[in-house]
Amino acid sequence: MDCIFCKIVEKEIETRLLFENEHVVAFEDINPQAPTHLLIIPRKHIANLQEMTNEEQQQLLPEIFLSIRHLAEELNLEKGYRVVNNCKKHGGQTVDHLHFHLLGGRSMQWPPG
Ligand code: 5GP
Ligand code: ZN
Repeated sequence: MDCIFCKIVEKEIETRLLFENEHVVAFEDINPQAPTHLLIIPRKHIANLQEMTNEEQQQLLPEIFLSIRHLAEELNLEKGYRVVNNCKKHGGQTVDHLHFHLLGGRSMQWPPG
C-alpha cells in the first residue's frame, strides 16, 4: 500500500516523532498552519474515522485524544489549542490515513472555511 503516513510509521520516511507509544505516533505537519501543528495518527492504517468499524479500532480514539492531551501539556499549550479531523472528500482530507491535527501557539478563528 502506498500510504505516506504508513511510511512514516515504518520509518521508511525519516520523520522526527514528538510522541510515540504502542498505538499512536505524532509528528510535525510538513506544511504548518500554526506555530504548533502536529499530526497524531494510529500506527495501524485506517483510512478515516468512518472506517473505524470495529471495537479494536475504536479503542484507538481515547489513545489518540489522551496523546493530544499529553502533547498539549508538553508543548505548553496552556492557552488552548484546536484539534481538527478532516474526514473524506467534503472534510478536505488529502491523506487517507486517519489523522488528527493539533494546532496551537496562536488564537484560532471561527468559523473555519
Ligand atoms: P489532511 O488535509 O488530509 O487533513 O491533512 C494532511 C496533512 O498532512 C497536511 O496538513 C499536509 O501538510 C501533511 N503532510 C502531507 N504529507 C506529509 C509528509 O510527508 N510529512 C508530514 N510531516 N506531513 C505531511
Ligand atoms: Zn497508512
